[in-house]
Amino acid sequence: MKFNRISGEFTLAADEAAYLDAKQGQTRSQLAFTLAFYALFYVLFSVTDLAALGPVPAAWQLLAARLAVAVTAGCCAWVVWRRPLSVRATRLAAIVAETVALGCFMLVVVLRPTEMHWHAMSLALMLAVIYLYIPNRLWHALALAGLSTAVFIAIAQHVSHMRFADTLTMGMLMVLANTFGVLAARRLNRIAREEFRSQVALRHAAERDHLTGCYNRRYLHEHLMGNELARAERFAHSLTVLLCDIDHFKRINDTHGHADGDAVLRSFAVLLKSLTREHVDSVVRYGGEEFLAVLPETDLAGGVRLAERLRSAFAATATRSIDGSASLRTTASFGVATVDFARAEPGYTLGELISSADKMMYHAKRNGRNRVEALQIW
Ligand code: GH3
Ligand code: MG
Ligand code: MG
Repeated sequence: MKFNRISGEFTLAADEAAYLDAKQGQTRSQLAFTLAFYALFYVLFSVTDLAALGPVPAAWQLLAARLAVAVTAGCCAWVVWRRPLSVRATRLAAIVAETVALGCFMLVVVLRPTEMHWHAMSLALMLAVIYLYIPNRLWHALALAGLSTAVFIAIAQHVSHMRFADTLTMGMLMVLANTFGVLAARRLNRIAREEFRSQVALRHAAERDHLTGCYNRRYLHEHLMGNELARAERFAHSLTVLLCDIDHFKRINDTHGHADGDAVLRSFAVLLKSLTREHVDSVVRYGGEEFLAVLPETDLAGGVRLAERLRSAFAATATRSIDGSASLRTTASFGVATVDFARAEPGYTLGELISSADKMMYHAKRNGRNRVEALQIW
């Protein structure tokens, strides 16, 4: 997971998408809070219009504009809070509310032309919100903030005939606010993503076997035991498990050494992962040279087909020894067991299913190895 040096976002789109997905719940609640605050802030500041202009039509126009901001921001906050929005929809809601608010702000600038210093200060604060609180890509935030700054300076020039020194100071303040915004957003992006990267690495270390990258027993117990079974039960699907054990593996260790044994384990794991469905099936290193595949929504015939493909592919695989001098070949035995939850008794456990697959695997060993034995339980 690498970072873009300028934006602080992940370079790879898939990493960035995974990060945004994982953060989406938090982003939505923070955005809803920011927008609700914005709505309140815009309405409360109508007292300053009345104080500056008195009860004239311009003040009522501004009140209407401020109410429009409050309604838009309030609706967006409500939608963002209540609905499970996608990352894109959340950003869109934020941009809509932000654009209406900036439009209203420009109207305030036009109708209260004698208070440019205050307006410049307000815009500087709003820029911080755009960069730091509104979820967006840094480039998009920069485009929105840069454009609003340019429009503000143009309006200020047009309506208030400022002194050159004032224009210069205001321009410098705007450059400072935008630069600070970009730097702070970049830093925030980077820190949040570094934290996410550490979490991913920690989770990976806790759930995966270091040698093969397959899930470990802890993952099997904490995630698969309850979840897969509950899902299969709820939807009355078939659940199949496949227990595989490498044949005569000890001989490889004894003849070629432990490191070459490890290389064979890795190539078996690569095969298992490549022939099973990503994000659907789970491959667990169950013991030393034993692997377990949990196959949701798979019947016995499907499980046996997969086991046969694995068996013949592994028998045809030659793993290079570490020093490159030998080509290591062996076979594996497979036990397959399936439960169809449309027919099964309630209370059946994944542990029972695995122990049936284990029995089948030992049948395969006893019947000559390099074989698949299968059993439909219900
Ligand atoms: P069978 O065909 O009956 O399964 O025979 P086998 O030799 O494969 O089975 P056995 O259980 O006798 O031996 C398994 C060996 O796997 C013994 C153990 O030292 C080895 N082993 C376990 N974990 C690892 C590991 O991480 N790396 C290596 N290289 N060997 C391992
Ligand atoms: Mg074994
Ligand atoms: Mg073995």
